[in-house]
Amino acid sequence: QSQARSMGGEQNLIVALRIRPMAEDEIISGAHPAAYKVEDNMVVLLDPADDPDDILRANRSREKQFVFDCTFDGACTQRDVYEATTKVLIPNVTVGYNATVFAYGPTGAGKTYTMLGTDEEPGIMVQALNDLFMEMRQNTDKAFKVTMSYLEIYNEMIRDLLNPDSGFLELREDARGNVQVAGISEVTAKSTEEVMGMLVKGNLERTQEPTAANATSSRSHAILQVTVKQRSRVRSVMQEVKTGRLYLVDLAGSERAANTHNRGKRMVEGAHINRSLLALGNCINALSDKSGPKYINYRDSKLTRLLKDALGGNCKTVMIAHISPASSQFEESRNTLVYADRAK
Ligand code: ADP
Ligand code: MG
Repeated sequence: QSQARSMGGEQNLIVALRIRPMAEDEIISGAHPAAYKVEDNMVVLLDPADDPDDILRANRSREKQFVFDCTFDGACTQRDVYEATTKVLIPNVTVGYNATVFAYGPTGAGKTYTMLGTDEEPGIMVQALNDLFMEMRQNTDKAFKVTMSYLEIYNEMIRDLLNPDSGFLELREDARGNVQVAGISEVTAKSTEEVMGMLVKGNLERTQEPTAANATSSRSHAILQVTVKQRSRVRSVMQEVKTGRLYLVDLAGSERAANTHNRGKRMVEGAHINRSLLALGNCINALSDKSGPKYINYRDSKLTRLLKDALGGNCKTVMIAHISPASSQFEESRNTLVYADRAK
């Protein structure tokens, strides 16, 4: 039986696309908007030869249309994005299912903005934790415990972003076959400010090194692992009944190593990033294959090994692909749209 049907016919993989607003430096350098949301689920990307004022004509050209489960443009808020992609996962996690939300796209396209956001405009990570805390307070006959870990995968090595001096950590399988990061710190937090503070601090520990393409491109995958343990009171003893996990992942920039004139260390690094992204792409393709169950090779990278229990099966997976609207980013945007397009 196909695993895709086990959630009562609901879709287990959702692919969304977010187009950020034009950046000031893009406008100053003479770029024009080239990517448009034209319907609830369609994006049109003009090519450099198109007249930027003739969106209607481009709109009719099939090879410029890309279809997603939902799309967001510059008019959409952080709340819109959270509510359409992640909020629906929260009840599943509190009853013991796992789920994953990925931010995918090239450096500068808005991945960290979507996942982390700012104090004024908090992203998915903070909004999801807020909802979990609220659920915890409201549900009085069940007791929840919510803990979080924040880690990065860089060059196929795992580091604890909340305890950066602890060295490289290993993946282990526990007695029940669940993949765990051995020795990772698990912390609890109570308020939005506390969560945001920890994540911002953790983010500063991420491996960000200069490349020719961008001054501070993120070369690592950052993963917030939220664990929800549910206990119920049986004869005044608290018993653990279910554990659900939500992974919120800010992926490394998807631009290819070849584009950034990388040599030596940078090139090795690009290969590692591509290995994880490629393995992830293969897993996601297998999940979206409607022809039935397919063998999925999670062993190919640290990222997919860690997420093994949160991809496929009864798990919900959301991929939010990101692009800049600017004409100057045409190649990267097209690569991203092709990678994420759902209209197959
Ligand atoms: P990435 O993590 O993909 O490299 P960032 O999230 O750092 O990209 O975004 C690049 C810049 O664009 C940042 O200055 C960020 O604040 C801004 N930005 C990204 N998305 C949005 C958005 N939806 N609205 C407003 N500003 C955004
Ligand atoms: Mg980033």
